[in-house]
Amino acid sequence: MYLERRAVGCIPLNCKKRGLPHAHILRWMMEKITPNRIDEIISAEIPDIEIEKDLHDIVSKNMIHGPCGSLNNNSPCMSDGKCIKRYPRDLLAEAITGNDEYPFYRRRSTEDGGKSIKLKVLNNTIDVDNRWVVPYSPLLLKTYNAHINVEYCNSVKAIKYICKYVNKGSDMAVFGVENTMHLTIKLPKINWDTT
Ligand SMILES: [Zn+2]
Repeated sequence: MYLERRAVGCIPLNCKKRGLPHAHILRWMMEKITPNRIDEIISAEIPDIEIEKDLHDIVSKNMIHGPCGSLNNNSPCMSDGKCIKRYPRDLLAEAITGNDEYPFYRRRSTEDGGKSIKLKVLNNTIDVDNRWVVPYSPLLLKTYNAHINVEYCNSVKAIKYICKYVNKGSDMAVFGVENTMHLTIKLPKINWDTT
């Protein structure tokens, strides 16, 4: 409800050319999200299966990063022995906001009431806790049942982000119609690896 009511602008920035196609969308909010309300809108925690089973299942299926690192060094996010996405993140009892950074979302430990799930990684069953959750909007996840990473952005760094993606260029398809009886469509091969 919060996003629907207050979002006033939307820019689909790009379809990324690596891996699965996806969109980067930037939305402006009519009212500022105050730091004490971030947890209402963006979560980086595994929902309680007893309270929100549907959301729990969607998060478990779509919003768990990796696992990577020592649990799986062959994960595609690994470079020079480190996760380029900076997982696993630190556990935090409360969300923390900086002046010019993405916030550090609340990621409670299991001792502090956080939940965990069991995942199979390389034939081992491991406990995955909130350190591995990609931030999400419960509303959007329940609506679309998909991987949707949502980040709170209140920084001038957003300008750099916008410029980076609008300048990557768009994918293109060229086609021609030779006659009404014999339709010929020529589609160039799109190289998803070039950026
Ligand atoms: Zn990783």
